[in-house]
Amino acid sequence: MKQISSTPAKIELGHVTHLYLSTTRAFMAVQDINLRVEEGEFICLVGPSGCGKTTLLSLIAGLEKPTAGKVWIDGRKVNGTSRQVGYMLQQDYLFNWRSIEDNVFLGLDIQGIRTKETEEYALHLLDEMELSDVRKFSPLQLSGGMRQRVALVRTLACQPDVLLLDEPFSALDYQTKLKLEDLIFSTLRRHKKTAVLVTHDLSESIAMGDRVYIFSRNPGRINSEIVVPSPIREALPFDARNHDGFQDLFHRVWKEMEVVSDAAKGN
Ligand code: ADP
Ligand code: MG
Repeated sequence: MKQISSTPAKIELGHVTHLYLSTTRAFMAVQDINLRVEEGEFICLVGPSGCGKTTLLSLIAGLEKPTAGKVWIDGRKVNGTSRQVGYMLQQDYLFNWRSIEDNVFLGLDIQGIRTKETEEYALHLLDEMELSDVRKFSPLQLSGGMRQRVALVRTLACQPDVLLLDEPFSALDYQTKLKLEDLIFSTLRRHKKTAVLVTHDLSESIAMGDRVYIFSRNPGRINSEIVVPSPIREALPFDARNHDGFQDLFHRVWKEMEVVSDAAKGN
């Protein structure tokens, strides 16, 4: 199968279908997904639970191989995991017996890229995230929001240019979540990262994304795409929520979600 466009996108999915196989059944998690994400774009995936959002991230990360179709990054077919792609999850997976600094360096160790330079870069990121003061602390001494910031630093320290974020804010209280949204949004923009965020918070998807994809389930497919207009797209997530037109967009996404949720109930 050939790529459709001549200029390679940062991420491209062409007719991606994925089945989970067990000895007794085959389950189609996602079907015929086509998606193009340009360098520096921030896109959001929303949809009912079980519609294949995490599966799609795993396919982009190279953790799963699509049953049919292809995934490309920079025009190269994804074939297993790569340093180029960072993955951040809802759970932070920090080791409580290691200091914050050592948790961050662990990412470098795993990738086999720990040098004086990469350590310095990681410490610079800790500073950017206002975590320098706690670098010798244990994760046990940190709040949920701080722990997620450490997890982000650990991911960014390996200098991936694609970031996959699977509901990274969902375990946090509302205020912390809003602050972290702004911080992650501005950090990723400053470092010119390409990002795919999965969230169940519709307002977060509009506040953070350049585009929002609404998935339907059984099998997981793209039901609709909503392009966020530029004034809202450029604003920090917190300010975006107060923008003219935000409520209209919210209602559009809400309506699309009602359609896919009703369809899911009918199954
Ligand atoms: P979401 O992240 O949107 O909630 P997932 O991608 O986790 O959805 O799952 C999509 C569907 O695939 C669900 O029905 C889920 O039960 C199924 N699924 C996910 N992972 C596996 C697996 N490893 N084996 C079998 N089925 C799976
Ligand atoms: Mg999921």
